[in-house]
Amino acid sequence: MVQMRDIVKRYGHTTVLDGVNLDVHQGEVVVLIGPSGAGKSTLLRCINGLEQIQSGTITVAGEELTYSEKHLNRVRSRIGMVFQSFNLFPHMTVMENIVMAQRDVLGRGKKESQERAVHLLERVGLAEKATAYPDHLSGGQQQRVAIARALAMDPEVMLFDEPTSALDPELVGEVLQVMKTLAVDDGMTMVVVTHEMRFARRAADRVVLMADKQIAEEGTPEQVLDNPTSERGRAFLAELS
Ligand code: ATP
Ligand code: MG
Repeated sequence: MVQMRDIVKRYGHTTVLDGVNLDVHQGEVVVLIGPSGAGKSTLLRCINGLEQIQSGTITVAGEELTYSEKHLNRVRSRIGMVFQSFNLFPHMTVMENIVMAQRDVLGRGKKESQERAVHLLERVGLAEKATAYPDHLSGGQQQRVAIARALAMDPEVMLFDEPTSALDPELVGEVLQVMKTLAVDDGMTMVVVTHEMRFARRAADRVVLMADKQIAEEGTPEQVLDNPTSERGRAFLAELS
């Protein structure tokens, strides 16, 4: 579903990704971990073309990423992204937040968009919040709305960048539960940057550990989290425990 080959990404003279190769297969859940500054967010942002790479190739759903506006819009419409900050539109209700892009980007009719929104709100456990405004919701509820909004576009891949790290600890579980259902029951293809190792163990098919601009280690959660083989992998995991 996503193929990255020999990716080099620089900001000015600073190299941030240095020869990264990553494949994410359909239905696979890849959890990306690693120290701050390793390039995890940058990698995600390269997948949907928010950042332009200097060399290498990225293929999403069989199509190589180019940076023409038309192509970028098409690729981005297939990729859902959820950020640490929920980024809901504050002047719109929950329902309006979920309906808007369906209408504007996909050209869906009003009734169909609303039905899809209702269905997704049920799935994330927020059916009763359709008419609420975001600032009347808890952080965990807002993040679940953001997930529903991304899913409304029928993405082929979902990217999550530390979706629970801005939340109070007691709200983390409800968001991870929604993500786990999406991963395990719905078979969504997902790339998740997170520090939640319990989620990695329960939901990941593969854990990829990034360190110092490169992939230091990858394998099953058990392989990477319990038996890291690389020096950088061991150092990172030792700090976590
Ligand atoms: P964290 O765990 O703190 O979120 P990360 O692994 O997501 O870290 P990135 O945000 O991808 O790391 O950043 C990788 C490197 O690129 C860092 O050294 C960062 O300072 C640098 N960087 C990120 N964005 C930019 C930018 N827009 N301009 C210049 N440098 C940047
Ligand atoms: Mg980051």
